[in-house]
Amino acid sequence: MTWDVQLRKGVWLPQIGWWLDAQTRTPRSFVSHAHSDHIARHEEVLCSPATARLLHARLPGRRKETVLPFGKPHELLPGVTAVLHPAGHILGSSQIHLTAEHGTLLYTGDFKLRPSLAAEPCASPRADVLIMETTFGLPRYVFPPEAEVITGIIDFCRQAIADGATPVLLCYSLGKSQEVLRALAPAGLPVMLHEQTLFLTRIHEQLGVNFPPYREFDAKEVGGHIVICPPQPGRSGLLSRIPSPRTAVITGWAIDPGAIYRYQCHAAFPLSDHADFNDLVRFVELVQPRRVLTLHGFAREFARTLRERGWDALALGQGNQLEFSLPS
Ligand SMILES: [Zn+2]
Repeated sequence: MTWDVQLRKGVWLPQIGWWLDAQTRTPRSFVSHAHSDHIARHEEVLCSPATARLLHARLPGRRKETVLPFGKPHELLPGVTAVLHPAGHILGSSQIHLTAEHGTLLYTGDFKLRPSLAAEPCASPRADVLIMETTFGLPRYVFPPEAEVITGIIDFCRQAIADGATPVLLCYSLGKSQEVLRALAPAGLPVMLHEQTLFLTRIHEQLGVNFPPYREFDAKEVGGHIVICPPQPGRSGLLSRIPSPRTAVITGWAIDPGAIYRYQCHAAFPLSDHADFNDLVRFVELVQPRRVLTLHGFAREFARTLRERGWDALALGQGNQLEFSLPS
């Protein structure tokens, strides 16, 4: 028997009639996490409790929901069992592990192998077929130790305040901002949050995550504070209300030469919520799959890397690899 895996508007598993992270409305889809490129107004979803809470915050409305705690087996269909495992990407982010007559299949969604300050530790269950994200699938994307990066961010903030400027950390509002806020705790500097960041941080608190003190952004009192806000185009939005902003973007893409020009900011720090190249390889070694299907980012290049290392690997949905099956 074989698993049929197809890429259309998300990953489609025709044998069981479920989508994985479909990007437009479908009858039923697993939702790995609540980032906007992984969610849509599906009729039925399967997700973790924290993802369900964040999904409601981002896409209010009624839908059929199966909310599954990590590690609890669930009979998706007769003969098909699903188990969710943490993916370490953002709070509630999960991988889905399926067992059926076709064998076992693991789909990672976005994942990060290194411990995160704002997400559950990533698991690596074994599976016959592994569908994995490969955002940073080139050897040049190897991130420095996180403690080093965090020290750099804190030094940047202290220096900006000492110079009479306002340090502004540009972070995606869900996940990265909460990780950075927690990372800033040892610095003991006062922090202001953009309203969207504040909204999502409060939901994290309701879900049991603790943070150092913070307050909502207030332009009149911003002096001496660190500001965390989503990336702003140019000097628009909140940035235009800060007299002397000194900006840093926090992203894995900071590894790229010229990142500060691309993001139009003063500094760039490579703190990512994705696995880097070495951890992508390590994850495959932990899962020990018979076949790897790569998705997102440098999918084709990373599949080639895996083949060179002896794995059966293909980029999902590229060229004649649009539809295929795993030989039994
Ligand atoms: Zn994501």
